[in-house]
Amino acid sequence: AVWVSEIMLQQTQVATVIDYYNRWMQKWPTLQALAQASLEEVNELWAGLGYYSRGKRLQEAAKKVVSELGGQMPRTAEDLQKLLPGVGRYTAGAVASISFGQATGVVDGNVIRVLCRLRCIGADSSSPAVIEQLWDMANTLVDRSHPGDFNQALMELGATVCVPKAPLCGDCPVKQHCRARRRKLFGKPNAVPDVEDCGVEGCHLCPPATELWDSSLGVTNFPRKAAKKQPKVARTATCVLERRGCHGAPEYLIVQRPSSGLLAGLWEFPSVPLDQGLQEKKQREVLAHHLHAWMGRPVMAGALQFIGEVVHIFSHIHQTYVVYSLPLDGDVTLDPALSPSRWVTEEEFCAAAVSTAMKKV
Ligand code: SF4
Repeated sequence: AVWVSEIMLQQTQVATVIDYYNRWMQKWPTLQALAQASLEEVNELWAGLGYYSRGKRLQEAAKKVVSELGGQMPRTAEDLQKLLPGVGRYTAGAVASISFGQATGVVDGNVIRVLCRLRCIGADSSSPAVIEQLWDMANTLVDRSHPGDFNQALMELGATVCVPKAPLCGDCPVKQHCRARRRKLFGKPNAVPDVEDCGVEGCHLCPPATELWDSSLGVTNFPRKAAKKQPKVARTATCVLERRGCHGAPEYLIVQRPSSGLLAGLWEFPSVPLDQGLQEKKQREVLAHHLHAWMGRPVMAGALQFIGEVVHIFSHIHQTYVVYSLPLDGDVTLDPALSPSRWVTEEEFCAAAVSTAMKKV
């Protein structure tokens, strides 16, 4: 249960996760039950939670524990990280300390913020040297007798008190130890230099010499972050193929994505990536050509009806779907040699393993 919640909570808010977590634990209350689940079932339950490979790897890891590790979950952070797919350093530390009482620290976004402020660490907080130092600090600080409680408390402090924009320093239980707060109240200390004032040349924890303390920011001078990388811009043409089902209700064609890569194994309307700067006429031709392969018969580019554009931001991709529709007369024989495909009603579509982006489409 701790493992599942930790994986679900990566990149996703608690309020969103609760419902998914409850449904997941009800459906697969044990490792053995999860090991027997199919990727399709996992994707269906995960649909809407984003970062789909997390669910996939949870299931793969459960399978590994059952089939290769005799049903015994590894009990240390080192083994969890080494043996289980999808378990990184943070998840390994969280599960080992919370579930198995190992005295090992954790470093997540909240902990980074708290520790950088406590110690006035002003170098880029995403740099490997700073991250390594923070792990050392977390491992040193962790309470040996209650490591799970301590780690959760430290993260909770970051989530509720030492928040990014307006931290509640007056209410903070560790304010006496906090160098960022001292610096805000008293300016530069003389007797004991802060890390950033110690003058050690090339110190990897100091802010760059050009970035001075901004007194209007107070403690929120820390942590410092490198400028965000611009997301990749991508365009995809997609077509909602519609036919009349046997009871007269409209049905739509969905096809399955490859089992690896972005949105692995999820279902979508037939889609094809577009080169940048392609003219509308050319876009239609590319899509018509793609549909030809699915349907085994030529599709007239002019028959595609342009519906509109849908923008969806994945973690690192700014994706625009150019949406067309094509109502069909009669039946279509799908080529079974291509990826799996099926016709679904609107209701079935909503319950299927489709991404949020496709639901927008
Ligand atoms: Fe964060 Fe303020 Fe507490 Fe320091 S005193 S740890 S800046 S909330």
